Amino acid sequence: MNQNSVVIKKDSRVLFVDMDSFFARCEQQVNYWLRNRPVGVCVYTGKYGCVISLSKEAKALGIRAGTRLNDVMAICPEFIPVESNPARYRAYHTKIINILQEYALDVVPKSIDEAIINLSNQKDTDPLTIAKQIKKDILERVGDWLTCSIGIAPNAFLAKLASVRGKKLPEGLLMITHENIDEVLRPLKLGDLPGIGGNMSYRLERAGIMTPLDMRHAGPHKLKAIFKGIEGIFWHYRLNFIETNIVSHEYRGMQAMRQISAEKRQNIAYIDQLFMTLCLTLEKRMVKHKFRCKAIGFTARYADDTRWDDAFTTTTPVQDAISMMNMIKLRIEKFQQMMNCSPIFNNEITQMRVSVTNFVDSGSMIYSLFEDIDKKETVFKTMHDIKSRFGSDKLIRAVEMTDGQVIKDVIGFGSVKDLSELDYKT
Ligand SMILES: [Mg+2]
Repeated sequence: MNQNSVVIKKDSRVLFVDMDSFFARCEQQVNYWLRNRPVGVCVYTGKYGCVISLSKEAKALGIRAGTRLNDVMAICPEFIPVESNPARYRAYHTKIINILQEYALDVVPKSIDEAIINLSNQKDTDPLTIAKQIKKDILERVGDWLTCSIGIAPNAFLAKLASVRGKKLPEGLLMITHENIDEVLRPLKLGDLPGIGGNMSYRLERAGIMTPLDMRHAGPHKLKAIFKGIEGIFWHYRLNFIETNIVSHEYRGMQAMRQISAEKRQNIAYIDQLFMTLCLTLEKRMVKHKFRCKAIGFTARYADDTRWDDAFTTTTPVQDAISMMNMIKLRIEKFQQMMNCSPIFNNEITQMRVSVTNFVDSGSMIYSLFEDIDKKETVFKTMHDIKSRFGSDKLIRAVEMTDGQVIKDVIGFGSVKDLSELDYKT
């Protein structure tokens, strides 16, 4: 998929396939005993484990993804926690993608349980027939418990929206066209649009845009002003049949910087905390834009106008603050040892700056971990909620509590980019 351009696409030829309750259904697929029962897949099944995917039956009981197992069991003793099985989900993912590739040349896996099929250049095909055939093929050839919803629309964003709306329809299928788009959007709230969170809804409402329908008909410049940038124009495009979803981001780097007053820098604990805040700020921004960095920079300036600069690249793309902090600190410690110098973090620091660059699209990492979380909540927000409730390192800790093999695997299935082309060939 590489045809972003400012062209209004007329036909609905982009399909978005979204597997239903993917991890939970994979477990129900291989284990008959779990079928028709309230099942939840957890990264770890101890009491602090966190539910990441729920079966339809568990959702019907009002259980929400992201809840701690402790709390789930308290309100629902019949709930069945199952430890996650990344290799199993990857294997099903691969089989599903192989089927999709039988129908189109242009198939883009978006996450472990989502894919875009672009039929724009296969004019002789009928997208609706293909969608129905794909659903049937997955059930017959991959697993009879593996249902999906498919959205069809002129661009990838609207196709995704159609797949979300399609989940509520009995056939799990919805097509958005120029003719019906206003009708599809009419009952929706701003928060129903994938990517519009609470803050953004509030800003749009304050500017008089109360619904997705208003948003579609607001001019690009009005949206640009509200979004304070190009993202507003992209929203106009998305809702008006122009392909934007593969627009490469304009960020070449991000930085977080803070001045430190003479009074504040007397406290080393404050300096440490500020360092963490800067890293967390960058983590949030990278999560928001769905990229990870492969280069990190750190600069400290001192009262005597000298400065300490460091920049390095990482072999694995990084997104989380804890890793960034550890890497920077490790290098500082090594430097201090080698040079036998005074500490880099000292009472003379007047300014601290952390920067990240060499971005890679992290795409599905977070989405995969929280495959099933309510689409209204942004996944990002939920993760940070969990972090603020249980401490910023708890999410990592929960994984670490199991054995080392699991942590490797959890990271492994995180990004579909980890699967090479070869994985998709049968
Ligand atoms: Mg899904």
